[in-house]
Amino acid sequence: MTYLSSPPSSPGPDRLPRRVRHELRFRKLEVRAVQRVAPHLIRITLGGEDLAGFTSLGFDDHAKIFFPDAGTGALTVPTVGPDGPVWPEGPKPTMRDYTPRRHDAAAGTLEVDFALHEAGPATQWAEQAKVGDLLGVGGPRGSFIVPTDFDWHLLIGDDTALPAIWRRLAELPAGAHAVVLAEVDSEADEISFETRASLDLQWVHRRGAEPGTGSGLLDALRKLTLPAGDFHAWVACESSAAKALRTHLVGERGAHPKWMRASGYWRRGAVATHDTHED
Ligand SMILES: Cc1cc2nc3c(=O)[nH]c(=O)nc-3n(C[C@H](O)[C@H](O)[C@H](O)COP(=O)(O)OP(=O)(O)OC[C@H]3O[C@@H](n4cnc5c(N)ncnc54)[C@H](O)[C@@H]3O)c2cc1C
Repeated sequence: MTYLSSPPSSPGPDRLPRRVRHELRFRKLEVRAVQRVAPHLIRITLGGEDLAGFTSLGFDDHAKIFFPDAGTGALTVPTVGPDGPVWPEGPKPTMRDYTPRRHDAAAGTLEVDFALHEAGPATQWAEQAKVGDLLGVGGPRGSFIVPTDFDWHLLIGDDTALPAIWRRLAELPAGAHAVVLAEVDSEADEISFETRASLDLQWVHRRGAEPGTGSGLLDALRKLTLPAGDFHAWVACESSAAKALRTHLVGERGAHPKWMRASGYWRRGAVATHDTHED
């Protein structure tokens, strides 16, 4: 085995991620603004009385988004019973996972970024969204708090991971060092990040290739000289790509499996998936 950075050391008790549970809530929120951030990215700003008490502590938290019925426009969300969600009679709405990109409690707003792709009800909804539309939001049910005091941080992802990467970079303190590999279609889809950390950012471009079909992120990672020291690695993209990245990081680059989180945020040919890749 070749370690291009330091071999893994043992994670101390204070260096392990921590899970925090939140009270389950389902909300009906109203679209307050729609912004085309990039050709393949739409930012939806949500607000409304139901947003009170919203909590999202982890940079890669996810909320369950409930979409209105495409035919009637009616929005159904469950209530909370002693054993979890209680649904009213009738069909359940379409649901997908999205990252709460930015919650501003003082302004009463919640931003969610929708990466646009070929087909899917979530993408379709975002492309047609307008101020006043309703959207359901469930959770986050919990947060995964990753310590920030690693020598450096590796963040790898595609368009769907940009909100979580944005959040992580925003929360890293001065003195932290982040290495980011981010895949989008082209330069036009690159977004800007705000961070106090020192940032090495490399964009990977698909150049019109179908998302999830190439190995752009893995190829870029293979060529990357990793900084010395211990690091936390976070990966989110198409599921099989995320798995391959994790295998490479743990098997060939000395990533510690306990300091690693690799998720399939979507899977080619399947709808509404969330895969967690572990040993
Ligand atoms: C924890 C978590 C957090 C997430 N956060 C975000 C987020 O903040 N922003 C965001 O945009 N997405 C995010 N995603 C991904 C998003 O939930 C999926 O992309 C979702 O499948 C999109 O729903 P859809 O209705 O558009 O497509 P679906 O109906 O689910 O899928 C239709 C078809 O499109 C394909 N497909 C799905 N997503 C993509 C894609 N991104 N690119 C290309 N093809 C795709 C599927 O394989 C399927 O063949 C997150 C996922 C998870 C699990």
